[in-house]
Amino acid sequence: MQKVSCPSCGAPVEFKSHASVMAVCGFCKTTVLKDADKVKDMGRMSDVLEDYSPIQIGTSGTYGGQEFTVIGRIQLRYPAGMWNEWYVMRSDGSGAWLSDASGQYTFTLEKKVGGSLPQFGEVRVGTLYKFFDRTFIASDVREAECIGGQGELPFKVGPGWQARLADLRCGRYFLTLDYSDSPQPTAYVGESVTLAQMKCQLLRDDDTVRDSAGELKAKVQPLSCPSCGSSVGYVPGLTRQIVCPSCRSQIDASTNVLQVLDVAERMEQLKTTLELGAKATISGAQYEMIGALRSKDDEGSVWTEYLMYNPRAGFLWLIETDEGWQRGKVMDDWPKWNRGETAVVGNQTYKKLYEYTSEVISAAGAFNWKVQAGDKARVIEFESGKNRLAAELTPEELNWTWSTPVGADQIRAWFGKEIKADKLPPKTDIEKIAKYFLWGIIGFNAIPLLLEFDRTWLVTAFAAAAVWIPAKLISWMQDKS
Ligand SMILES: [Zn+2]
Ligand SMILES: [Zn+2]
Repeated sequence: MQKVSCPSCGAPVEFKSHASVMAVCGFCKTTVLKDADKVKDMGRMSDVLEDYSPIQIGTSGTYGGQEFTVIGRIQLRYPAGMWNEWYVMRSDGSGAWLSDASGQYTFTLEKKVGGSLPQFGEVRVGTLYKFFDRTFIASDVREAECIGGQGELPFKVGPGWQARLADLRCGRYFLTLDYSDSPQPTAYVGESVTLAQMKCQLLRDDDTVRDSAGELKAKVQPLSCPSCGSSVGYVPGLTRQIVCPSCRSQIDASTNVLQVLDVAERMEQLKTTLELGAKATISGAQYEMIGALRSKDDEGSVWTEYLMYNPRAGFLWLIETDEGWQRGKVMDDWPKWNRGETAVVGNQTYKKLYEYTSEVISAAGAFNWKVQAGDKARVIEFESGKNRLAAELTPEELNWTWSTPVGADQIRAWFGKEIKADKLPPKTDIEKIAKYFLWGIIGFNAIPLLLEFDRTWLVTAFAAAAVWIPAKLISWMQDKS
């Protein structure tokens, strides 16, 4: 370890790894460059955006049989979202990266790849590539901007620094080609991991997160639209963009200061079955509806997607189409698909069903990526039994969503009173039927009732109870479920 004094404020700055080139002073945020044993002041680094990541500098764990410690971090932003690259030092002294994108973790190590590698501009999302006897599919091609940094890092980086990356995937395996420094990429290989698998220690607990953010872990928070002042719910650190439901302003939520992006091209008003802020209890967890999106396909069919958020469980989608409702989840572990007619998940084979282009018509609320009317994606849907898989392909990225049908009664049960009764197909009103039936019995018995009151009254009352009580019970059970 090497200890230097910050050239700006004099505080001690540590270099734990020999591979580190720079460090950010923990006190004054000055970027300190370790250059031939001299220390240089490179100006201030922007503060990282509070994003509720459970990882922090000092977090340790195990990967590939070696212990590691997190020693630095850069935060990056691109049109589709934000993520952290945590720089880790392994017990053999080598460096590695732990990437953290809204709770999806990938551990990667630099690796030499033989043969010729494609140029940055040549990598096309959805194209198949063969490396290390595996078939990878290009899943992401992006240019991202550094928005903040912490701790020590193996290269010179500052605000505005641009990363040029291509990600390729094969099931849970990752290959990142990094073109940031030169046209000849540096390759990093790894896989998707969980914090539990890596036996991570010294993670931030909820209390620390609350102290630094002043709020509970990634709670949905109200925000005043900087353009019209009306209240919108969003998740700080996870929300990339907000579309104000009142004035349609598009607001960038990926910096510490909210900025109105676009007031000129406002999206049209969106009327939806579920309303922004609606709460639902799904599989025992409370979710809040934070964003709604309306899209159409090439044939003009229109559907609505709702983004639901729970701090622990993350995001899920509810999809409302003419055919009914579906519940969808973005997949971490990808299906095996070689651009053919089938896609395989575990031992389940899904058959190709449709292929179409989807286009966003309108949006409202908070999203973890930048959404705009006119955004297009090529969608390939696969089916196995009642379940669906959808590959969504844009020039920048490929994503997989798994979905399963949900009955309207289930939606009603999840949302309870949060959903307006007239928005869903009406439930069978058994009490109303029973009421008509009762009037029938009374009417039918009116004459004998007048003639011989005592006995007829008893029979009629008994018959009425026999109709009314079960109807009341069924109706009560419907409300409960
Ligand atoms: Zn300092
Ligand atoms: Zn507004």
